[in-house]
Amino acid sequence: MSMISKNLEEIRSTLKDNVTLVAVSKTKSVEEIMEAYKEGIRDFGENKVQELEEKYELLPKDIRWHLIGGLQTNKVRKVLGKTYLIQSLDRESLALEINKRAEKMGILVDTLIEVNIGEEAQKAGILTDDLEGFITLLNDLKHIRVRGLMAIIPQGSEEENRQYFRKMYKLFQDLSQVRQERFTMEVLSMGMSMDYVTAMEEGSNMIRVGTGIFGARNYTV
Ligand SMILES: *Cc1c(COP(=O)(O)O)cnc(C)c1O
Repeated sequence: MSMISKNLEEIRSTLKDNVTLVAVSKTKSVEEIMEAYKEGIRDFGENKVQELEEKYELLPKDIRWHLIGGLQTNKVRKVLGKTYLIQSLDRESLALEINKRAEKMGILVDTLIEVNIGEEAQKAGILTDDLEGFITLLNDLKHIRVRGLMAIIPQGSEEENRQYFRKMYKLFQDLSQVRQERFTMEVLSMGMSMDYVTAMEEGSNMIRVGTGIFGARNYTV
């Protein structure tokens, strides 16, 4: 059995029924992705537009591509129509650009709002205090649909991680009360290779696992 198959088997044995596993394939080859595909994985995550575009062309069309990295406004038009879920909706200017392009294409774009739950200056995402205003703005953007929240928590101990996951779950629940068109809280995307078990314990229903499936990334290639 290959390493990828073995890793997948192990992760899947711990997955709760309601949790979607997104295989984060950034820097990984088409061959490696196909190994996971053959094991039944259909959700793949990429953080760079160009890489997503290239892989989109080469790989089976029933793959659901998740964009999990920062999206520059000038690259929006390249990914629309190719992504199943843009998980990194992190600012107003991006929302406006996605909406504008999606309107031209006559499509509805599914997104998650990225929340900067650790309030880290170097990280993308909407701050908790700014969520309400951001969501209100989205009410006018008729080509964007919000399906839930995504977070990349600060690095820390298991206990610290748990506290951030709890905060996210609380937000997720609170925002479930919002009654707005094209706005639902179905997906809570949190947890990566090192902390997905804790994330699931605290209510995550979408985990994003890269190295835990494909092994270490080699950025020099
Ligand atoms: C790279 C990445 C992951 C996966 O990280 P691993 O530690 O390799 O599992 C998950 N989410 C985002 C946003 C990423 O950029």
